[in-house]
Amino acid sequence: MSAPAGSTILSFEEARHAVESHTAQIPAPAIEVVDLLASANRVLAEHLLADRDIPPFPRATRDGYALRSADLAKLPARLEVISEIKAGEDPEHIPAEVPIGHAVSIMTGAPVPSGADAVVMVEYSTRHGNQVEITRGATRGENIVPPGAEARQGGLLIDRGIRLTAADIALAASVGKSQLNVYQRPRVAVLTTGDEIVDVSSAPGPTQIRNSNSYSLAVQIQSAGGEPVLLGIAPDEPRALRGLIEKGLQSDLLLMTGGVSMGRYDLVEQVLAEMHAEFFFTGAKIQPGRPVVFGRCGAKKCGAGTLAREADSLTYFFGLPGNPVSTMVTFELFARPMLQALAGQPPRQLHFLHARLKAEIRTKIGLTRFLPATLSGEFENSTVALVPWQGSGDIAATARANCYIVIPSDREHIPAGEFVAVMMR
Ligand code: AMP
Ligand code: MG
Repeated sequence: MSAPAGSTILSFEEARHAVESHTAQIPAPAIEVVDLLASANRVLAEHLLADRDIPPFPRATRDGYALRSADLAKLPARLEVISEIKAGEDPEHIPAEVPIGHAVSIMTGAPVPSGADAVVMVEYSTRHGNQVEITRGATRGENIVPPGAEARQGGLLIDRGIRLTAADIALAASVGKSQLNVYQRPRVAVLTTGDEIVDVSSAPGPTQIRNSNSYSLAVQIQSAGGEPVLLGIAPDEPRALRGLIEKGLQSDLLLMTGGVSMGRYDLVEQVLAEMHAEFFFTGAKIQPGRPVVFGRCGAKKCGAGTLAREADSLTYFFGLPGNPVSTMVTFELFARPMLQALAGQPPRQLHFLHARLKAEIRTKIGLTRFLPATLSGEFENSTVALVPWQGSGDIAATARANCYIVIPSDREHIPAGEFVAVMMR
């Protein structure tokens, strides 16, 4: 059977922008409350506000002496030490004022008493009983963070839609949030197609292969903040395929692998067309992953009525090419941003890192390529090189790689030493 009429093949950039234009319209997901540590890698569903000024007091950033910088006009200067202030000092023990010609011994994180306008590091001092000799001048404000300099009470620290990292969680802890509102994870259905595919626990016949795509996709879905729902393996037969696609459309996103090429048994597009799906593209000028499909289709109301989905709601789907490296790459390029949007993150542009190419690349123009590669070297001397591979079915080569080199569609030859775009994975 043939592909539906009106196929739309886009350049890589056009295809990516097509996905981005849809991600921008996705409404915010439902919210749940989780404990602070459980919120790692979840998407924040509230505005994180400062509960007080940060820092709440003028904070010393060095161990040393808090003093008046004007007292150091002539060096060395001798000042009288009137007290010692440690971090967390009882406010009653903090002098109301550091008078002219005086200093207090102060520790990192301690409040600087009024009158003092600088902290000189202990390394530039010599203590003689209750006197200290300072050998270096200081500018006003040196080694002091003023109250509220990092944030004002009630000020916005993190906007909603951020995927929470260690720094975000540290910030939440610092403002007393033991629980956070986060968005519910989108459920992503994964449907593998192909008569030759058997499950991982089955012994494959001589011409059969085990399903690996459902597993790579499940891991990628989790890493993008989604919850994979594995629907198993659909045969290359329209009726059974349609039943499973209908089931998959009840999730928040449907990812299919295989069955989108031009072969006689590549039925995914045809079945979706019969279901009146809308196709935004049916191919992209990329390697691997050229036959990738992106569209949207109505989801039938779940018979059991357990899902809150409306009868007429539309579900986005991707038909990812079945070759395992194509599946992985097209997920990264197109499905990941959609999943992130469904997880509550604002749309984000794709950007690549750059690294120096170790050995020249010769290729053909016309397709943007994402080829498995190894980034190696140390510190600022990193280089990147292609991993030898047997094409987009070569999972072993891809497992040996740690990134992809991105080759623009107009480059035939890239000499060694040039900086090339790299997509990490
Ligand atoms: P297709 O896109 O259906 O033409 O499949 C392209 C290639 O990918 C064929 O060699 C398939 O056998 C292989 N393939 C398809 N689905 C999977 C899968 N789930 N796991 C591993 N390989 C697959
Ligand atoms: Mg197939």
